[in-house]
Amino acid sequence: MFTSINPATGEAGSSFEELDEDGIELALTRAQTAYRAWRNATIEQRTALLSAIADQWAANKQHLAETAVREMGKPITGALAEVDKCIAGFRHYAEQGPGYLEGRTVKTPTGRAQARWLPMGPVLAVMPWNFPYWQVVRFLAPTIMAGNVALLKHASSVQGCAALMQQLASAAGAPDGLFQNLAIKSDKVADIIADKRVVAVTLTGSEGAGAKVATAAGRALKKVVLELGGSDPLIVMPSADIDLAAKTAVTARVQNAGQSCICAKRMIVHAEVYDAFLERFEAGMRAVKIGDPMDPETVMGPLSSEAQRDTVLEQVARAQAEGATLRLGGERIDRPGAWMTPGVLTGIDPESDVAKEEIFGPVAAVYKVANIAQAIDLANDVPYGLGSSVWTQDAAEIEQFARDIESGMTAVNALLASTPEAPFGGVKLSGHGRELGPWGMHEFMNLKAVMYG
Ligand code: NDP
Repeated sequence: MFTSINPATGEAGSSFEELDEDGIELALTRAQTAYRAWRNATIEQRTALLSAIADQWAANKQHLAETAVREMGKPITGALAEVDKCIAGFRHYAEQGPGYLEGRTVKTPTGRAQARWLPMGPVLAVMPWNFPYWQVVRFLAPTIMAGNVALLKHASSVQGCAALMQQLASAAGAPDGLFQNLAIKSDKVADIIADKRVVAVTLTGSEGAGAKVATAAGRALKKVVLELGGSDPLIVMPSADIDLAAKTAVTARVQNAGQSCICAKRMIVHAEVYDAFLERFEAGMRAVKIGDPMDPETVMGPLSSEAQRDTVLEQVARAQAEGATLRLGGERIDRPGAWMTPGVLTGIDPESDVAKEEIFGPVAAVYKVANIAQAIDLANDVPYGLGSSVWTQDAAEIEQFARDIESGMTAVNALLASTPEAPFGGVKLSGHGRELGPWGMHEFMNLKAVMYG
């Protein structure tokens, strides 16, 4: 059984039965059968289903949001925004998907070749708890449009969200087996990847889980997309709007209690504006309204679990032991559940262990640099390369950041956020492959060359 634990109270909630071996076998057979039919679904059938799923989500918005709040503790405003984003994601692929599927014809020495996008088969998605709906939808919507079918292994802590997503797809008229939630533990994943009925796998989560899934996929010679962690820099240069940069840095670090792969975790600030930035940033972090995640006024709720909170507290303690200064917060709140205060660390040795790690919670590291070259070197001096956010009014600096920061995404004078139209993914240990837009949809498609003599 899986049992949800409400991180705001520490109390047990709903339980979900684990799928046994027979159940997994049945699901794989169903996926294969569903694929044989769905691969030939017309474009109109695919777009109609995506629109119907979006309508189902819109009709069940509050229920979806509250389920996420209860299972992983995000504030209700964030949960409602996540559901809205999912609805927009389904609608995006319903509207733009037909264009993404269009092929191209090229001339060849003997005639012409058509490059056509064809589906591949059932794809397994291993997904995390931090955005329990959006992480899944950014895989599911393009999968449906592509003519593939989806198998979901969701995080153990959000099985209620996973079950609800399958129910809504069925209610929207999805054929049996098109989208199946497999309520399984991670030890079943490698065998499913090896099964010949599954053609590819995508994972969002930690490096450890990514390496295990990539190993299983490599053994079976199957394609894998990985979206792993990040330790994104937010760089502030002298010409920046310091008030807005500091305000955005606070939002980035406390939204979803700091548990987002692309939120800014390291604030890298030019010496000329360091004091001004730090003063505003600290004031903002101190003022964050912590409280009941069901209260619409709450900005930050608990972390997703006590284990996740304790991991962050351990990193804070280790940073201090390695010479860093904890300027505020970063402490356990003594009440049942997974609570802690937002924290700010300065004076971190860039060569220390903690400096190289991802802090998946509401604790920021703030660094001072002398110039743009130092800022870029420090930004790149971690094993990750997911996102980045740069704050400057100087066009030459913007170009230099866009060119030289080793990351899959750079936001300019803005909070970095994923959006259905733009590619999403990273380099280095942040993973490989892309999600969203046409790029995400094409990852799991067969680009067939049809050659005419
Ligand atoms: P995990 O990477 O362990 O979990 C993500 C998903 O992978 C879950 O569905 C999990 O299942 C599954 N999984 C875990 N181990 C394996 C395995 N060996 N084989 C197959 N699937 C596996 O994340 P955690 O919840 O443990 O969080 C740990 C850290 O991961 C965080 O502190 C953060 O640094 C990072 N993380 C990054 C995320 C991102 O958005 N990039 C999201 C979440 C976490 P199950 O829940 O059953 O273990």
